Amino acid sequence: MTSQTPASETDAPFDLVICGARVIDPAQGLDGCFDVAVRDGKIAALAADLGRTPAKTRLSADGKIVTPGLIDLHVHVYEWVTNFGVRADDAGVDAGVTTIVDQGSSGAWTFGGFIAHVIKPSKTDVVAFPSINLLGAIKGGMEGPRLHNPDLVDIDELAALAAQYPQYIRGFKCHAESGSMSHWGTQVLEYASEIAKRTGLPLYVHTGELFPVIEESRPEATDVVPNVLHLLKEGDVLAHVYSAMPDGIVGLEPGIPDVVRQARQRGLLFDIGYGVNFSYPIARKMIAAELYPDTISSDAHGDFNGYHDDSQTDYSLCGAMTRLLALGMPIDRIIAATTITPAKVIGQQDRIGSLRPGMDANITILDQIEGEWTMLDGRGEELVVNLRLAPHRVVMGGEVIVPSCRLMRDIFGNVPKAA
Ligand SMILES: [Zn+2]
Repeated sequence: MTSQTPASETDAPFDLVICGARVIDPAQGLDGCFDVAVRDGKIAALAADLGRTPAKTRLSADGKIVTPGLIDLHVHVYEWVTNFGVRADDAGVDAGVTTIVDQGSSGAWTFGGFIAHVIKPSKTDVVAFPSINLLGAIKGGMEGPRLHNPDLVDIDELAALAAQYPQYIRGFKCHAESGSMSHWGTQVLEYASEIAKRTGLPLYVHTGELFPVIEESRPEATDVVPNVLHLLKEGDVLAHVYSAMPDGIVGLEPGIPDVVRQARQRGLLFDIGYGVNFSYPIARKMIAAELYPDTISSDAHGDFNGYHDDSQTDYSLCGAMTRLLALGMPIDRIIAATTITPAKVIGQQDRIGSLRPGMDANITILDQIEGEWTMLDGRGEELVVNLRLAPHRVVMGGEVIVPSCRLMRDIFGNVPKAA
């Protein structure tokens, strides 16, 4: 018995060809008009004219920007277990993002549930930096002294977990901020430094006041980050670098403090962690000094004080990218900061972060929406932008997905984007 394959399928060398877009792939130094072809879930070709090559599906992307699938290095998606976690695909494919990195929502005692209920069922690729503490961030930042103290750290247990799940655990989350230091000095960070050394994985370090502070032992704001630099190593990531917190990286003093250059010299990476911390004045000051973030992330999460409430979440990865573009960060740096650089942070640069043939066919297609649009920073300051970067389609392992954009109020307002 023989089966016949239709001629068109036999002849079709590609499953999908995306035509006519501006392709930006900083990993290859590419910015120009190319077509992208996909076969068997991998990038098969990237060339100037694949328009006549047979393909099962052809997507016209005139006027769009095509990038490697976007990677968001900082989200909170342990939905239902933490009070502030959002649905993973709302921060992922439904926001134009193909890989998300949960920062500290899970801990060694709660990581099994994260695999079963978040990593496995999501369309988006999810990896994690578990919290240095055993429980994770069950109540956001609101229970610092109870959840994030040295007694809830067990380095052996965390190291064993990282060895068991190397495909999911790509680093660890910890905090360098006034509340923690007022209680325990640098002790929790010393444990974090130890687990990072033992596993060879990076630390992702929150900066800017978060936990309740003991006022009598409040550290000098400008000492908080300098006091932990010696515990960090090349490749570790400082978060919220454009925040206006007095104990943040830039702080409130005029000029750029020495600690910024010291951190760069140590090989630390700077991440945006947009969230509620981003400040336009600090961003302007840093960008004017060409102190760009290495990675851009959203810090997408729900209400810290509520339970499972994302009704006020009004920021997204594309929103952070849009704001930085308007503030003067070059587009090739913005795309590098959301593709190849975070891919390297999570050690997956051989598989994602570029459109080189052979890489996974994870692709983001961005609309460029023109027109004046007002965007707020974390402190409510307004910025009028003339161009918004918005997800049009994502491709996950070759499958084309239309993002719902449900959590993208900063780009679309409260009206869901029509498919
Ligand atoms: Zn966060």
